[in-house]
Amino acid sequence: PNLVNKIAAGEVIERPASVVKELLENSVDAGAFRVEVTINGGGTELIRISDDGCGMTAEQLPLAVASHATSKLPDEEALFHVHTLGFRGEALASIGSVSQLTIRSRTIGDDCGSEINVRGGVIESPTPCGCPVGTVMEIRNLFFNTPVRHRFLKTAQTERGHIVEAFTRIALANPDKHFVLTSNDKTLYDLPPTTRWSDRIAEFFGGEIADSLIPIESDDSQIRVSGYACDPSVSRGNNRMQYMFLNGRHIRDRSLQHALSEAYRGLLMVGRHPVCFLRMEMPAEMVDVNVHPTKLEVRFTDGGRVYGRLLQTLRYQFLKTNM
Ligand code: ADP
Ligand code: MG
Repeated sequence: PNLVNKIAAGEVIERPASVVKELLENSVDAGAFRVEVTINGGGTELIRISDDGCGMTAEQLPLAVASHATSKLPDEEALFHVHTLGFRGEALASIGSVSQLTIRSRTIGDDCGSEINVRGGVIESPTPCGCPVGTVMEIRNLFFNTPVRHRFLKTAQTERGHIVEAFTRIALANPDKHFVLTSNDKTLYDLPPTTRWSDRIAEFFGGEIADSLIPIESDDSQIRVSGYACDPSVSRGNNRMQYMFLNGRHIRDRSLQHALSEAYRGLLMVGRHPVCFLRMEMPAEMVDVNVHPTKLEVRFTDGGRVYGRLLQTLRYQFLKTNM
């Protein structure tokens, strides 16, 4: 089974940032209000994520690190209306198979916490430990037993950049939660919870972007679009500043990016890309999130309708403000 996990890890855990993404999603799914990320050496030496979520009992810990064990899908049918960020149950098993993983966790109903250690896929029995309610995950020496992956790691600075991006996506998707990111003892971000999305956006991208936000909003019976399209003056040379969230999950979608460029047609010079922060909400049945191991790409049951909805919303808003 460890070989299987190592292969699965190849798909899900590409680099330290993949670990951070998976663990942050778990903390959000656990209902955490405050999540702290600490990394050393771009995450290759240490990744520590602590949350104040629901925690796990001593009995749950070995299951959490076992392959294809998820507590989030009661039955197969549930796969067609996923409401949590995770559901495949392979992240922790994958991470544990290619690193030294320590989990300390405690639920609100327990007087004391439990600790479990996994080293290169070998799972030890949980032992009691003192810890606050919530979960602390520590990953050391990522890829120590997969030399090829290890060799492909870039400099600590590059890996840290990817981690910052993963952190940014989750923190943007969850402005109502407190996130902290510390790298080599330096606090990079300390983001208090806010009800205004523009505050969270400003924390990451600063004044120029914050000043250029044009609010957009639309609602039909099923698809809700909200957020900000930015003024054409802050356009970029690439499309990396197009943040789209679907039901709280960051996604990249070619067709939606196309709708965005269509909406800005005539407003931007050739080769320039609009900046936007968009949230879309729709019934879970209208989207399949199980098409990609890292769930970055999704499939809509009616892609044309979603495309049209976004384009129409953006066009209408620009008519109101820009022309
Ligand atoms: P998935 O998120 O797809 O269920 P994971 O491998 O990421 O799979 O996690 C396995 C299980 O471990 C989860 O279903 C959940 O029950 C538990 N778990 C993981 N992280 C946390 C956390 N931070 N707090 C509470 N439970 C967690
Ligand atoms: Mg998960």
